[in-house]
Amino acid sequence: MGLPRDQNYYFEDGSCIFSVGGCLFNIHYSLLSQESPFFDKMFSLPQPGSKEQNGRGRSSGMDGGSDDNPVVCQDNVDSFKALCWGLYARPAEIRAQQDAAKVDLKRMILLAEIAHKYDCTDLEKWSVDVLQSHWASSFGEAASGTVAPESSKMWTLDILEKLLHLSNEGDIIDPTFQKKIEVQWLTCAFSQAKDSADLRKSLDFADGLNNVRQKGSAYYGALRRTGIITDGTASIPSDFADMVESCGVPEPLMSELNPKQRSRLTRGLWCLTSLRRNMNLRGVYEPHVGCPSTINHQRLWQRFWEAYNGISDPGLVFDYAYARASQRNEWGNGCWLELKPRIEEMTRIFEDNLSKYFMIDD
Ligand SMILES: [Zn+2]
Repeated sequence: MGLPRDQNYYFEDGSCIFSVGGCLFNIHYSLLSQESPFFDKMFSLPQPGSKEQNGRGRSSGMDGGSDDNPVVCQDNVDSFKALCWGLYARPAEIRAQQDAAKVDLKRMILLAEIAHKYDCTDLEKWSVDVLQSHWASSFGEAASGTVAPESSKMWTLDILEKLLHLSNEGDIIDPTFQKKIEVQWLTCAFSQAKDSADLRKSLDFADGLNNVRQKGSAYYGALRRTGIITDGTASIPSDFADMVESCGVPEPLMSELNPKQRSRLTRGLWCLTSLRRNMNLRGVYEPHVGCPSTINHQRLWQRFWEAYNGISDPGLVFDYAYARASQRNEWGNGCWLELKPRIEEMTRIFEDNLSKYFMIDD
């Protein structure tokens, strides 16, 4: 009893048989080798038991020549189906991918990944273009922000996680798009998490990422979601017991997390609190050095940062400061113009170091 044949991609007149995930595919060798230099090269290698090396079909003695002797691929079966779909899609199906209501994002992501693996440059480029154009119509140029209801239906957490994985692989996705995916994933996974179970699921996913910086951002997102560091000014505890109580990470949101995740959050809270205290004590006032203005701006720098004294989350301080620095020039030219690039730089350093705060070393 042989392996079952795939319903859609076992063509009776196909010329190369593949076994993928316990299923047989019979596809057209000439079509595949045209799209994929990888397979073209593989098929042109001399085969045992056959004189025919570049012919149209695979003779039964060759790999891929019969059900009993298929070319075995270790790919996920859905990925291989996505590749077949890319090879054989009809114009109407291709057109449908431009339609936000019809596009199959999951399949597009799988296609981009497997097309990249097998050097199918055209298919890879096409699938990434489709993903990017839907992204642009959903989010515009914004890197993050509020998600329109129709977009959140399309870009579910599951899709964002798959897209993030894709963006971490090789050079399929360009860095600008990757950054946007990252920001959107963080928003969806953490800012919009409803309960501890949601946080647990997203942290489990983050723990599996091979990108240390993203892991750090994930834990920071989870900590922000608990509300403990976000707004130091919001509620004033009514008595000492409340005050003591509110100084840990709130238990209800921690309940589902594993011990390692809990200790990472606790350690992150401690580090961020220390950093914030340091910023207050030592100041992040910028020297008025090399500034062409005759007015000493030192006091203005100081006041600029003091405006955020009540905020306990350093990241939120940078967010607010950046927004303010992007608006009108508050003290004439000179060192004010330094403010925005300085905050960008500070934010970058801060984000790059988050993983250390949360004890992410691997
Ligand atoms: Zn100045």
